[in-house]
Amino acid sequence: MTKKNALLVYPEFATSFWSFKFTLQYLGKKSSMPSLGLLTLANMFPKDYNLRLVDMNVRPLTDADLHWADLVCTSTMIVQRKSLAHVIARAKRAGKLVVAGGPHPTSYWEDIAEVDYFLLGEVEETFPRFLRDLEHGTATHLYVPREKPAMTQTPLPRYDLIPMRAYGSMLLQFSRGCPFDCEFCDITKLYGRVPRTKTNEQMLAEFSLLYDLGWRGSLFLVDDNFIGNRREALRLLRALIQHLCACARSLPASLTPAYSQAFFITTSCARPAPRDPANRP
Ligand code: SF4
Repeated sequence: MTKKNALLVYPEFATSFWSFKFTLQYLGKKSSMPSLGLLTLANMFPKDYNLRLVDMNVRPLTDADLHWADLVCTSTMIVQRKSLAHVIARAKRAGKLVVAGGPHPTSYWEDIAEVDYFLLGEVEETFPRFLRDLEHGTATHLYVPREKPAMTQTPLPRYDLIPMRAYGSMLLQFSRGCPFDCEFCDITKLYGRVPRTKTNEQMLAEFSLLYDLGWRGSLFLVDDNFIGNRREALRLLRALIQHLCACARSLPASLTPAYSQAFFITTSCARPAPRDPANRP
């Protein structure tokens, strides 16, 4: 069977506080973090796809990349929307099918022109269905998940697809959903208000994968609510310590950033618990 080529494109960040454009050069890095969404999506493709991931914050998207692709998949936050528009225009000029997902299309898909297929919200259930429909010629314009998927369905991110040394930190996602609803934050729109977490085994597999791929830099633990998930987070940290001790590797240096990130997230998201007992820490 002839393999198809899927090009995963992460559009460029506009210059903002979070782009860290002017500080990264002093660290010898191109970008602060990779696209965890695209890395995770990559592991949902069947084996009859060749994959190539282009993070435009690390290197330019070339015409040769677009020429190679059968399918162009993008993941975009709002701050990347202008770059997304350029990516879509170039891909369509090259005659490619364009798929768009991520926080920006999830909220504003009706404002985004020329995209062939939108995958809104979380895609563990919709993406395999979309690929099957595409194969059968029955794909529709819009895919919306029927329900929030359990994070136990979420595969390991394909960190091997990126030049890890180009990044300041590697990302691991522990939970989705938050019982709070801060007005500036779109987490509840994306993931709902009931926290869901990965299992300790999933997280340990992700830590181990990064270690085995040679990563020794800092880790950013993505957790929507370390207060609401306090018990699960503590269980994970205990499991991580036990695992690291059992492995007897040179751990303190790689462990410290994970703790400091956990502390940062915990303190930055600290808010009083809501009245609903189900949501109490
Ligand atoms: S507590 Fe954090 S994750 Fe939850 S809504 Fe507020 S800012 Fe967003």
